[in-house]
Amino acid sequence: MAKKIKVDQELCIGCGACVNLCPDAFELQDDGKVNVVNKDESKKCDCEIAINSCPVGAIKIEK
Ligand code: SF4
Repeated sequence: MAKKIKVDQELCIGCGACVNLCPDAFELQDDGKVNVVNKDESKKCDCEIAINSCPVGAIKIEK
């Protein structure tokens, strides 16, 4: 099912956990925060793992 993943830039501490788990969907930016770079990949990706691994709960699924 198609889902939209979003990273809350205010909460993200740039730990890189989500990037390691889903390198096609998440990318560390120059400002040290992570953003969703590939919405199609994030739809395919089992981002539950990335969501659960985020220490600050910055990854959200938009409904
Ligand atoms: S796991 Fe969470 S805090 Fe860590 S880089 Fe990803 S979004 Fe940011």
